[in-house]
Amino acid sequence: MRRVTKKLLLTILGLLFIGLYCEFLIYYVVVFQCSWPKLVNSTEGKVLKAFVLSDTHLLGPYRGHWLDKLRREWQMHQAFTAIINTHQPDVVFVLGDLFDEGEWTDDKQFNAYVERFYKLFPVPQTTKLHVVMGNHDIGFHNRIRKRALQRFIELLNAPTVQHLVLKGSHFILVNSMALEGDSCNMCAEARKEISLISNKLSKCSKDNKFCEFGGQNLNYSRPILMQHFPLYRISDSVCTESDAPPLPERNKLFRLKIDALSKEGTDFVIKNLKPRVVFGGHTHHGCLLKHNYGKIDFLEYSVPSFSWRNRPDPKYMLVSISPDEYAVNKCGLPMEVTMIATAVIMLFCLVVYMFRMKTLGR
Ligand SMILES: [Zn+2]
Repeated sequence: MRRVTKKLLLTILGLLFIGLYCEFLIYYVVVFQCSWPKLVNSTEGKVLKAFVLSDTHLLGPYRGHWLDKLRREWQMHQAFTAIINTHQPDVVFVLGDLFDEGEWTDDKQFNAYVERFYKLFPVPQTTKLHVVMGNHDIGFHNRIRKRALQRFIELLNAPTVQHLVLKGSHFILVNSMALEGDSCNMCAEARKEISLISNKLSKCSKDNKFCEFGGQNLNYSRPILMQHFPLYRISDSVCTESDAPPLPERNKLFRLKIDALSKEGTDFVIKNLKPRVVFGGHTHHGCLLKHNYGKIDFLEYSVPSFSWRNRPDPKYMLVSISPDEYAVNKCGLPMEVTMIATAVIMLFCLVVYMFRMKTLGR
């Protein structure tokens, strides 16, 4: 082969490999480093594997640059499919703010939004996908249009309150904006649903004959609560995780019912549901809190955003759950700076290699 042709071929192959590694393989390399947490007392068949993510904030027709939109969606799609292929979860929970501009879109734009969401985050038939509403999906409480609420419920199969039973564990998915505490239809419906679930679980906890859920007879176990807002807290200053908000943002006081649930809304949902663990999103940062409401002890996890638009190091959680126990692993995704540095270093190595070929006359 002529020397020039060989060099050109090697350069093209080198560039193709760099593109393949930095835009595809790197997600697998990072995702592979995280694994499902082990449960001590549960046999493999009884463990539900849940992949939890939040705040994907897909850009809509109004905000952001098209290139930013394209880039972030590519990154999230690659990361999501790498996680699904590597970890094969039984269920995926998306904790709200799927869309950035859901509340502003008309029906046609929203339909296209939903289609894009399912295209970017595909799951195999063996994996279930459940979502909860975020304020960016339908608006904050006072700005929710009836139609915006209705279409989210219909197209994403996400009622204001959902009670799921998966591998014997109870999950309650709640629309946070419905815990405002006033007499709006959505709020009244949410409270009624939560009270009904509370009664059913309470009866089941006292007598096993009341533990039939969806045709299955189960033993009682405390439910897992999934929603968008954090529970009542006055700021993120109580968060000590390494991915908590940076200072001084961490000490900024929360506006209740906007940044977190009100004290009253939190008391209502906790006293009724008595969750064993709570997952939320909304802040885009990590936080782990130990709560004690009377005799109800539980941990609350704030799940950081899954989008590179919201943080340089997006995260997700792998949660192993059985009716008796659960364990959580928080996993990272490649940082943007790492991806850029890797591409630059690989390009530099390719240039040096080609230059050496030239000087050695190969
Ligand atoms: Zn939000």
